[in-house]
Amino acid sequence: MKSDIAVLGGGMAGLTLALTLAGSGMRVICIDHAEPEATASPSADGRTMAVSWGSQKVIAGAGVWESIERAACPIRDIRISEGGGPVLLRFRSEEVGGQSFGWIAEIGAIRRTLIEAARKTDNLTLLAPRRVTDIVTEEDGVVLRLDRGKAVRASLLVGADGRRSFVRDRMGVPTLERSYCQRAVVCTVIHENPHGNAAIEDFRAEGPFAILPMTDDVQGRHRSSIVWTTHGGRRKGPMDYDDRTFNAALTARFPDLYGEVARVGERFAYPLSLVLARTYISSRMALVADAAHGIHPIAGQGLNIGLRDVVCLAGILTEAHAAGRDVGAQAVLARYERERRFDNTVMAAGTDFLNSLFGNNVLPISVARRAGLRIVSRMAPVKRFLMHQAMGDAPSVRKWIS
Ligand SMILES: Cc1cc2nc3c(=O)[nH]c(=O)nc-3n(C[C@H](O)[C@H](O)[C@H](O)COP(=O)(O)OP(=O)(O)OC[C@H]3O[C@@H](n4cnc5c(N)ncnc54)[C@H](O)[C@@H]3O)c2cc1C
Repeated sequence: MKSDIAVLGGGMAGLTLALTLAGSGMRVICIDHAEPEATASPSADGRTMAVSWGSQKVIAGAGVWESIERAACPIRDIRISEGGGPVLLRFRSEEVGGQSFGWIAEIGAIRRTLIEAARKTDNLTLLAPRRVTDIVTEEDGVVLRLDRGKAVRASLLVGADGRRSFVRDRMGVPTLERSYCQRAVVCTVIHENPHGNAAIEDFRAEGPFAILPMTDDVQGRHRSSIVWTTHGGRRKGPMDYDDRTFNAALTARFPDLYGEVARVGERFAYPLSLVLARTYISSRMALVADAAHGIHPIAGQGLNIGLRDVVCLAGILTEAHAAGRDVGAQAVLARYERERRFDNTVMAAGTDFLNSLFGNNVLPISVARRAGLRIVSRMAPVKRFLMHQAMGDAPSVRKWIS
């Protein structure tokens, strides 16, 4: 099978890239080792994604935003507190002209929409579930050998296969890795009162506790999802609690305005780590999203920066393709790496710093931290800058977003 681009990994980043490239007239083959229906089911992954205003534009460019938006909840209010105390910093959408900061969408719904769109796109072939057994790089292209004897040939291979990337390993790209010795427990909860489209991040010594607003369920019950960061290792934590203890702990962590809170979805736990590829490119290969940089979810930015890689790489490849140039040429790939590395490194370092800063309970540091947040909340230009960061309005990719 021949294509211009082979994308390994049909997750949120891989499929968005594949659809965007196919929309620009390139022939694309996207391969994933998982069963598509299984990855799109709510029981496969309890996470919701905070999709920023900037990411919404990337997904819209791939032609699939409308159906995702129908089940997504806009974020109009962001509140930051510490240890369950009063709100120290608050961003309201009225401060950015009424624009939503982003949307909370269930991963299953995003994946389902992307898979359906991929299946309807003529010059895009989704091979799933299929395994790549070997990658052979040649001078004018790359050959992927698949299980059951077939092979795919492309001018360029894109690794979008997540933080344990097979492509990255096979191409010998070294990584910088560090465990945070924390895990994130996620699930959906229902609560008595409406959430008012507020996303809340409460920083605690063991890690942040985030409440993310969701749309009401079919029975009209008010829903939010939580990301509850706790210690990793063998110590007992929220995954071990029985339902009564879990719900009581939830109610204690939620602000009173939510009323009674109870878990409805299954609990999932994610060990947290930092995984950074030392380079994003090699001969006829480029890495995007988590395959290039897996970061701490403290600011809900992992997928958002991954989608910036997607829009940047798609823009560069589209220009090369339209000019009749080789899309796998080293000069084309080097431009992608140049344009994305700084932004991603700043975000990885920023989330790493935030996690250490808020995990430190030494008294002078916690006093300085609270004072810092209060000062920021009174400094309009700094607040505006932070609000635009939360919206994913990144100057480095503005030129690629229509
Ligand atoms: C608790 C938690 C909460 C988060 N919340 C947010 C948030 O609110 N906002 C945000 O922006 N980010 C968030 N993130 C980060 C976000 O989940 C990731 O950045 C995002 O999923 C990366 O997408 P991806 O497509 O690169 O990788 P993945 O989602 O990991 O997809 C990789 C795909 O590749 C496939 N694959 C893997 N290996 C192979 C192989 N060998 N062959 C073929 N296919 C393969 C997999 O089946 C999968 O489909 C969160 C992360 C965690 C842990």
